[in-house]
Amino acid sequence: IVQAEGVRKSFRHVEVLRGVDFEVQNGEVSCIIGPSGSGKSTFLRCINHLERIDGGRLRVDGDYVGYQERDGKLYELNEKALASRRAAIGMVFQRFNLFPHLTALQNIIEAPVLRKLRTKPDAIKHALELLDQVGLLNKKDAYPAQLSGGQQQRVAIARALAMEPKLMLFDEPTSALDPELVGEVLSVMKRLAKEGRTMVVVTHEIGFAQEVADTLVLMDQGRIVEKGSPRELINNPQHPRTQAFVRSVR
Ligand code: ATP
Ligand code: MG
Repeated sequence: IVQAEGVRKSFRHVEVLRGVDFEVQNGEVSCIIGPSGSGKSTFLRCINHLERIDGGRLRVDGDYVGYQERDGKLYELNEKALASRRAAIGMVFQRFNLFPHLTALQNIIEAPVLRKLRTKPDAIKHALELLDQVGLLNKKDAYPAQLSGGQQQRVAIARALAMEPKLMLFDEPTSALDPELVGEVLSVMKRLAKEGRTMVVVTHEIGFAQEVADTLVLMDQGRIVEKGSPRELINNPQHPRTQAFVRSVR
């Protein structure tokens, strides 16, 4: 569902992505690991067209990100069309980015109602099911400030799921959490993986990657330097960069 070939991205004169080749099939979980500054977040943002790529090819579900193909030519999408493409991709960030003035339930129904995916009563019914799935039905009327970091992240996941995304992107969803709250978020993500959702997860949680990833890739200095099954990559890394990274997070 995601196909990246030679994706490049620079900020000013700094080349942050230097030819990223990456692929995820429908129903697969791919985890991305790599040192700070290697371009992981930037790459995720490119998949969602929060950043525009400078070179290479990047397709999601067959479509070039940010473009529409007509008669063999590519045309840039307008904001409205971009927004509807983005709506098909769920994103969960490192920092909880819930709307602070809305309750958990209101946060979840906001997008599907606004984008007319569901009527309000229908969106509420679906949101309650999602809250139940993430174990937070009893917090439906709580505001983000009344929730722990782990609870906020679980609401953020439910909110992303409310749009019935065909792809979920996670950018270090547990790295801002106190250690005792990491497990509850990972267990929700593990369940999603086992349900067959297509997920790209940037994470330093090697145990999580080992358990759920179909493929694990190491990004370093703007490139994917090694990819394989988690078992191969963690137990028998080939590239010196991977060896160093795996040693550092063990
Ligand atoms: P981390 O593990 O710390 O989250 P990362 O692998 O996600 O790192 P990125 O956030 O993608 O790395 O950043 C890669 C490089 O691009 C960094 O050097 C960063 O400073 C730079 N960068 C990212 N976004 C911008 C921006 N909007 N403008 C300028 N430079 C940027
Ligand atoms: Mg990052």
